[in-house]
Amino acid sequence: MDEYIAKDNNNPINIQNEPNYCEDCGEAKEMLEGEEVCVRCINEEEELNEIKIECKDYVLYDRANNRLVKFEKSGDIVLYGIKEEAQDDCYGNEEVIQFEKLPKDKQEEIIKQIY
Ligand SMILES: [Zn+2]
Repeated sequence: MDEYIAKDNNNPINIQNEPNYCEDCGEAKEMLEGEEVCVRCINEEEELNEIKIECKDYVLYDRANNRLVKFEKSGDIVLYGIKEEAQDDCYGNEEVIQFEKLPKDKQEEIIKQIY
């Protein structure tokens, strides 16, 4: 494989000297198992996935406005460990929804609050 690249490119060393940069975080990408990847973004994604599995809480979600119900004073998202408690607090325009069924941006909002 390396030989093929060398024949195809007059100066293959240049590839390594001028790395591509990640579109998301601007970090220089690295070669990993023959693929050019952003190590920083991969690590962040893995962290998110780990947290996702751990969080089984419920929230009140206003789908029409893409908004989670928060405490008035602190601005923290209200989390419920028990579904029935969430249902007791739920207004007509809201729905009780488990963390893992939320849109990704809302999951990240909660993760930022917890960790
Ligand atoms: Zn990145």
